[in-house]
Amino acid sequence: PQSKLPALGTTIFSQMSALAQQHNAINLSQGFPDFDGPDYLKARLAHHVSAGANQYAPMTGVQPLREAIAAKTAALYGHQPDSNSEITVTAGATEALFAAITALVRPGDEVICFDPSYDSYAPAVTLAGGIMRRVTLQPPGFHVDWSAFAALLSPRTRLVILNTPHNPSATVWQKSDFESLWQAIRGQEIYVLSDEVYEHICFAEAGHASVLAHAPLRERAIAVSSFGKTYHMTGWKVGYCIAPPALSAEVRKVHQYLTFAVNTPAQLALADMLNAEPEHYRELPQFYRARRDRFIQALEKSRLKVLPCEGTYFLLADYSAVSDLDDVAFCHWLTKEVGVAAIPLSVFCAGPFPYKLIRLCFAKQEATLDAAAERLCQL
Ligand code: PMP
Ligand code: GLN
Repeated sequence: PQSKLPALGTTIFSQMSALAQQHNAINLSQGFPDFDGPDYLKARLAHHVSAGANQYAPMTGVQPLREAIAAKTAALYGHQPDSNSEITVTAGATEALFAAITALVRPGDEVICFDPSYDSYAPAVTLAGGIMRRVTLQPPGFHVDWSAFAALLSPRTRLVILNTPHNPSATVWQKSDFESLWQAIRGQEIYVLSDEVYEHICFAEAGHASVLAHAPLRERAIAVSSFGKTYHMTGWKVGYCIAPPALSAEVRKVHQYLTFAVNTPAQLALADMLNAEPEHYRELPQFYRARRDRFIQALEKSRLKVLPCEGTYFLLADYSAVSDLDDVAFCHWLTKEVGVAAIPLSVFCAGPFPYKLIRLCFAKQEATLDAAAERLCQL
């Protein structure tokens, strides 16, 4: 058939994980932990399965989970969304992003994103008939140039997609970025899709700045998160989005025919976890900071230059002292010859991105990080 996405192949994450497996390399490419989530969460899942919670969940998500999300949001961002009309549980953040884009973007609409950008946004926009407009962020700071952003605005601009803490650059937005965004789009019918899946993995002193904490902006925003990141269970694929009632209603029109509902016992277990152990997500920055710092320290003896990491469980490393290869070729070489798999940065950009940067995932056991660092120090 004639492809609707002719330029697209398999995702870089599938490609690099497969290559890592084939070459028995330490896999720091695709972002997932090599350790398990909390025992309590696993026990609650087993409990709900045994107790017979095995039929369809309500389309919007089970009530206890929506209530627990509302309470957590209020405690962290000073805004309590209505659990009935403003919170929708989805099959991972991926589904929330796809449903939001499909619900909002009409043929010919323009969507602004910030490159490097996560790989799932653009295909969803293309399938909806939208056109991507990209602000390119430059290393090492990856700060948004707000005049470049303003220059991309047009009467066709419908949606802005942002991600903080940012995969892959590991930078975070400040409150002032949200204010700049608001000043740029106020008075126009432009919506905001804020991908905050790493909201609990933020090392910045000021903490995570959420779109939900910006009162005027959240009136037109869809905030997306994922329990996969927070509870070290990327395979559970449970996420959610928060948006005002009218926006949530549109997202739900898509969600009800994309998946209808999400895994019932996992939702109930996650509600139990949020209620019983709120310290888990509160301690997550500390948990990941220790891994980040251990890995950075171990890489100090290498010829890689590590960039600052303010959030996510990814580190960027500049390999220009090591090789002249482009980043894709370098990642293949690194996997096959050095035994460490990483992600090349240029794949997150539509335009030229002429830097020698790779992304390394540090959501790994200390022994894994130490072994990887040892190999990387031989470069
Ligand atoms: N957005 C970003 C920025 C991500 O890194 C990821 C996970 N890799 C997702 C969305 C998707 O999350 P999920 O696995 O919950 O679908
Ligand atoms: N979000 C993960 C990453 O950035 C990968 C998720 C996936 O494989 N689709 O590595």
